[in-house]
Amino acid sequence: MSLISSLLFISLSLFIGENGIEIDLPEIEPARSIDFVSLEAPSYIIDGYWSGVELDSYNMPKDSIPERTFIRLDGDFSCPYGKVVYSPYGRRFGRFHNGVDLPLPQGTSVTAAFSGVVRLSTYRSGYGHIIIIRHANGIETAYAHLSKRKVNSGDVVKTGDIIAISGSSGRSTGPHLHFETLYCGHTFNPELIIDFEKGTLVQSPFMLRREVLQ
Ligand SMILES: [Zn+2]
Repeated sequence: MSLISSLLFISLSLFIGENGIEIDLPEIEPARSIDFVSLEAPSYIIDGYWSGVELDSYNMPKDSIPERTFIRLDGDFSCPYGKVVYSPYGRRFGRFHNGVDLPLPQGTSVTAAFSGVVRLSTYRSGYGHIIIIRHANGIETAYAHLSKRKVNSGDVVKTGDIIAISGSSGRSTGPHLHFETLYCGHTFNPELIIDFEKGTLVQSPFMLRREVLQ
């Protein structure tokens, strides 16, 4: 557990060159105080609210989620598909697209983005074959429209492990991977944390604002 406590004191001084008078502005004490911030996800987020059946095991109203949460992204990471997002997160044809669509051809290996525990491995009418993995940094990742699932609820997976084979199951117009990132059951845009073109994480820690949660 690492705690960051920081008080920032600003002492400003101005030097007026022409008449040689140095003016010290009063010290501002403290100019800004940064709250204690825990960079570890709270244990109830990781260990609690577990379900091997429900898509959303948290059932947590958005208001009860802190306004900002720091997500560690400094561990191992494997990009689900390091090329392009062909259908982004957000409003689309009057509906809300709660993930990104990645152009994985039929039969491609789908790998775990981070290490974690498989929470859900099931079939749902819209998503088709879907896998949800819970990670130690507090987020969950979801992989949908799979043709074959290779892991079960409770399985421990490592970053890059093959968890499924891509396909077009469920409500899908062609082979692709529908990929979601979630916090406490609410999706947020995966492109906030992943640069799919480079295949890398954007930054760590990532400050997740409640307002970006769906
Ligand atoms: Zn999609």
